Amino acid sequence: MSGTRSAKKYDWHVPLKNGNNHDVVKVSVRLEALRSSVKLVELEDEEKKLRKVENLVESKLDEYLDLQKKRKCPTCDRPVNVGDFRGIVKKKELELEKASKAAEKASTELKEARALQKRQAK
Ligand SMILES: [Zn+2]
Repeated sequence: MSGTRSAKKYDWHVPLKNGNNHDVVKVSVRLEALRSSVKLVELEDEEKKLRKVENLVESKLDEYLDLQKKRKCPTCDRPVNVGDFRGIVKKKELELEKASKAAEKASTELKEARALQKRQAK
């Protein structure tokens, strides 16, 4: 009687002893693949977002540089004081540098994640 009880007590071990630990491994491999797919999508979104930010900052900077070159407002053609834009141009240049670095980093991470998934798929 006491033998039956202790067998019941350790019932949870039985599936593993019956060779199902192979399934456990398969499930965890599938889970890992799913996790890396999710991570890949997240990285793709992140990269897209950061590239968009980079492009926005870049086109804004281009507008300021163009404005400095033409020395007039593109909307109303009023003459502008180039000196007024030095500060903002400098700020936008720094912003662009940061945005480019962030986007570049995201691209690298995405590339690495894609390569990792390819290896895992084999
Ligand atoms: Zn204007």
